[in-house]
Amino acid sequence: MKHIVFNSAGIGSWATGMRVAEKYGTDNIIQLFTDTKKLNDNHPHRGEDDDAYRFLREGAALIGGNLEWVSAGKDIWRTFEDSRYMGNSRVDPCSRILKREMARKWIEDHFKPEEVTLYIGIDWTEAHRAVKNKRFWEPYNVEFPMMDAPYMTKEEMCQWSESLGLKRPRLYDLGFAHNNCGGFCVKAGLGQFYTLLKTMPERYAYHEQKQEELFAVLGKRVPFLRQTINGKLRYLSLKEYREQIEEIERKNEDVACQIDLFDIGGCGCFGDVDDIVEKVITA
Ligand code: SF4
Repeated sequence: MKHIVFNSAGIGSWATGMRVAEKYGTDNIIQLFTDTKKLNDNHPHRGEDDDAYRFLREGAALIGGNLEWVSAGKDIWRTFEDSRYMGNSRVDPCSRILKREMARKWIEDHFKPEEVTLYIGIDWTEAHRAVKNKRFWEPYNVEFPMMDAPYMTKEEMCQWSESLGLKRPRLYDLGFAHNNCGGFCVKAGLGQFYTLLKTMPERYAYHEQKQEELFAVLGKRVPFLRQTINGKLRYLSLKEYREQIEEIERKNEDVACQIDLFDIGGCGCFGDVDDIVEKVITA
């Protein structure tokens, strides 16, 4: 029996791999990493944060077994262009094409369902995601070791890795809750994009420009950032959001009083599977 751990370069999947290795040994472990970066293209803001690759390689070495590195050969903005769809918190062509479909194809090409168990880094706070994932990966069996006791917080997982000499991903130190897509995510909220703007303005500018280019290709503006003001929901582009923040700051007003910086959103490429949405966008 092979044990395939979906390694996303985040602390949750690292801890998952460690628990699998502790239980079964490392002889039959495969860590499967699905890259969101175009291979052979080192644009500094495309795909994952450079430090995510450091954490992935060093963390994979601590876990043991083989690290399989697969890529669709395109980045998230290309998937939106190809799908003619701006991803959002409900429909995510990026993680479907670059993550879930790549992973499923690789697994189906190499193993029958009875030959492997899959492992995803969902933890005890995300039980609702586990049920959907069980159904999504059928007929393969999928397990979630971080849902089991002893229950660990993300901080405790980071302390575990650092006790072994593996420094936590730098994005966590910058205030991001996830180590995906370099701090960007179409499922993220106003708070995460504020952090992105303040900690890596050049990366924010890169994505702002890519979004404007996509709107031009689509012939319509379909932003994904959601903001509720006086009970009314509106959608705003990265450009509009940046300009709103700049206007607040220009007036020397407090951003936290006007924007919900606790709106982090829910980023989870493997965790957020939804059968209905998956069917609609693959039709
Ligand atoms: S982190 Fe967000 S933007 Fe990146 S692939 Fe996953 S869902 Fe898409």
